Amino acid sequence: MKIFISADLEGVNGVVSPGDIIPGEPGYEASRILMTEEVNAVVEGCFQGGATEITVCDSHEISQNLRYDLLDERVHLISGCTRDGSMVHSIDSTYDGLILLGHHAMFGTQNAVLDHTYDQYMIRELKVNGTALGEFGLNSLVAAEKGVPVIMTSGDDALEREAKAFCSDVEVAVVKKAEGRYCAKCLPKADCRRLLTETARKAVSTASERKCVDVPASPVLEITFQQTCMADGTMRVKDIRRTGPMTVEYACSSMVEVMDMRQVISDAAGEFFDRRF
Ligand SMILES: [Zn+2]
Repeated sequence: MKIFISADLEGVNGVVSPGDIIPGEPGYEASRILMTEEVNAVVEGCFQGGATEITVCDSHEISQNLRYDLLDERVHLISGCTRDGSMVHSIDSTYDGLILLGHHAMFGTQNAVLDHTYDQYMIRELKVNGTALGEFGLNSLVAAEKGVPVIMTSGDDALEREAKAFCSDVEVAVVKKAEGRYCAKCLPKADCRRLLTETARKAVSTASERKCVDVPASPVLEITFQQTCMADGTMRVKDIRRTGPMTVEYACSSMVEVMDMRQVISDAAGEFFDRRF
């Protein structure tokens, strides 16, 4: 049984502030170790649950966060950018389940640690066919299009609410309780490890019974940016439609295209953005 683990950093236990997640900041090196320990705890549970092959996709920022020297020696690691498919790069129908580890709530969620949707400076809201999605929802849909169900996620209690609302039978390991955007009450580390291993074991051992979320046949990607100039920048993308001062729409033929066009549109928007104002 093949399992795909996409590992982000904002939802890792002990990680609460920008200083913990940005390379060069004081907490970042410790966060890399915490993230690697969480992946190892989940990997252990996956093997206990019947997994025979595991791919771990490093998915935060430059995607070179995991400490390979400390990573479980049995897994395949996808490390580094640039790549298509973003956080679920190379996932295909040979996988039996997707685990979204260290994830977080979408931008604008109240009482959610480091809430954002891909780029906190750029994206205010992302929708597909009118439904607002965070990274949990979008990654789940891309996997579902390949026939791979999302079986588990981990992060704070705000992520749990978002994940359960989108996919009610996903297993969730809540490793910290959000007390604000930059504050959380974190589980004791040993309890956290046990919770991750046990949740992964349960999710993987029941993976064959889990269904994929419904995938729209003709998905329309809608992005509302944080500033009008960002939407201006996207007007250079062929066939894009401006539907509001800060909002654009792009008709796609698949969720894979949604994922890739999100990146292309966001990059075009970013060229028209001055971070000083
Ligand atoms: Zn991240």
